[in-house]
Amino acid sequence: MKTHILLIEDEAALVELVRYNLEKEGFRVSAANDGEEGLALLNESKPDLLVLDWMLPHVSGIEICRQIRRKTELRDLPVIMLTARGEEADRIRGLEVGADDYVIKPFSPSELVARIRAVLRRARPSGADEMLTYSGIAMDLAAHRVIRNGRNIHLGPTEFRLLRFFMERPGRVFTREQLLDGVWGRDLYVELRTVDVHIRRLRKAINADGERDPIRTVRSAGYALDDQPDRG
Ligand code: CA
Repeated sequence: MKTHILLIEDEAALVELVRYNLEKEGFRVSAANDGEEGLALLNESKPDLLVLDWMLPHVSGIEICRQIRRKTELRDLPVIMLTARGEEADRIRGLEVGADDYVIKPFSPSELVARIRAVLRRARPSGADEMLTYSGIAMDLAAHRVIRNGRNIHLGPTEFRLLRFFMERPGRVFTREQLLDGVWGRDLYVELRTVDVHIRRLRKAINADGERDPIRTVRSAGYALDDQPDRG
């Protein structure tokens, strides 16, 4: 079953941008253009996470957040607020009324996706039934399975841990040292170029002919899992 995200945002262009990017990442998205419609949708459809704009006509984002936290059946709903740049006091108030995180406008779709995944992960700490998806790749952590575009992918244990590390932190660039710490563990002495060897194996395993390589090499920095290779 797809994770259902409700978006309450009055800017139509932003709704479409977010909807497109979240659906591409495998989420189901519904949207409301104002606070009243949003509250109605919240009560009838049971979303897994709410992305909530601060400035809304009729009922403000902050008021919606406050109402959600007062309702027993919505109290645990994860909420990410969208706020304007520089309004530090607002952001603090948002967290005070119970938002789980905030994203500052303007934001990149991949940043929002990363925040959503992080908040969902915190909301479901069991992790056993967890499914990670990014850029056409799906990782079933419980079954230890990886699928890309419908194709089963066989990975060695190190490649599996490496891919999982990236999938949990999409878009971020990691140095070889950080990857060694995160994937191999600090205690082990492993040469830095070991990372390159496993990255090469991982690429070979996940990329079929003609498929875009989702692992970006960042010159003199490291590697990132990133489906927006052109943003520098
Ligand atoms: Ca707005």
